[in-house]
Amino acid sequence: MPEILIRNAHSVLTMDDEGRELAGADILIRGGLIAEIGQGLATQGEIVEAGGCVVTPGLVNTHHHLYQTLTRAVPGGQDALLFGWLQTLYPIWARFGPEEMRISALTGLAELALSGCTLTSDHLYLYPNGARLDDTIDAALEIGLRFHATRGAMSIGESDGGLPPDALVEDEAAILDDCIRVIDAFHDPSEGAMIRVGVAPCSPFSVSRELMRDAALLARDKGVMLHTHLAENDEDIAYSEAQFGCRPGQYAEELGWTGPDVWHAHCVKLDGQEIDLFAQSRTGVAHCPCSNCRLGSGIAPVRAMVDAGVPVGLGVDGSASNDSSNLMAEARQAMLLQRVTRGADAMSAREALRLATRGGAEVLGRHDCGRIAPGKRADLALWDVTGIDSAGSWDKAALLLAGPQRVRHLFVEGRQVVRDGRLTTIDLGATLARQEALARALVV
Ligand SMILES: [Zn+2]
Repeated sequence: MPEILIRNAHSVLTMDDEGRELAGADILIRGGLIAEIGQGLATQGEIVEAGGCVVTPGLVNTHHHLYQTLTRAVPGGQDALLFGWLQTLYPIWARFGPEEMRISALTGLAELALSGCTLTSDHLYLYPNGARLDDTIDAALEIGLRFHATRGAMSIGESDGGLPPDALVEDEAAILDDCIRVIDAFHDPSEGAMIRVGVAPCSPFSVSRELMRDAALLARDKGVMLHTHLAENDEDIAYSEAQFGCRPGQYAEELGWTGPDVWHAHCVKLDGQEIDLFAQSRTGVAHCPCSNCRLGSGIAPVRAMVDAGVPVGLGVDGSASNDSSNLMAEARQAMLLQRVTRGADAMSAREALRLATRGGAEVLGRHDCGRIAPGKRADLALWDVTGIDSAGSWDKAALLLAGPQRVRHLFVEGRQVVRDGRLTTIDLGATLARQEALARALVV
């Protein structure tokens, strides 16, 4: 099996149970796994000198809508709250097709990779003009990131009192059939899997109660995870109380949407009871601080969630509500935002980075990722701390206080996807040119 030796790292942030940080350490990669960690290791294979680099587990993104990378900073949505923002963008998204899905995913994945991400989920909930989940999976396979695609859905259009236009909603039986198709075609439950598939109705305000319930039954039958948006802002809570007569947490619980195989995006408005429910049921949360700020949704009670034992990971959310796919920036924002409400000691740089790595891996059920330890997958980010971003830092490992936001090297399953700051697997220039052409064609 091929070997790569990462030699003499400035420090290795293991994210193990003790939070150990190893100075001057080597990491031996064999195949897709971390084989050994120590000093003075040797190999007949490739050597990557890491003297000026802090090594972390690859970052994990637990919530995204990659397709939105084609609709960043759309003027009509720049200053709108969630529902108004959606209503501005729905008609544009309705003109997407397979190529828009693939190229926007590829661009978003490239940005994620350059910001240290090795594993990302994606939530694709609209399928206009022949687009399929397969289009985004193709993009992930091409760039070489570990990918948890989720088959999203919307079924309640405007004429039935929902938010999306009727042209973007699907028949519920067809949604469930396509969930089965993509799970059977792509889901890999094995350790080290590069592709997994989840079931993910868009949100309680865009599908029926029956679809939420049936999706949970289907996911459990197939042994895949469940994902949706929950308790994102005050409008979302008001909708839940008016339409369902209860808060989002109760709605989720009644329909089978709690448990270690479920993670919800945002959860900005969870109350104390809902936090306890999520902690006891080990229901995960994808915290998306930049999107929450961008849409004025509020500050998620992450400190309280983590203290209660809720599994929490980070997500960049859709490119159109961020408008970025920079996971390192997201981790810094997560750290800062808890400090706004709870004080400067509310979240350390190390804790936020832990949420961005091991936290996210645990939310996605990936206990084979998110840590640097022998036997774990070789998903590693190397951060060059000799540059201007780290200049003058007394604590080079405090990357979120002073450090680079782009990786120098990135390994996924032992394969080098970024080398010296450049993607090795795709032609980024050609991808961006195609992205720009597609974006221009969407402007009317
Ligand atoms: Zn989202």
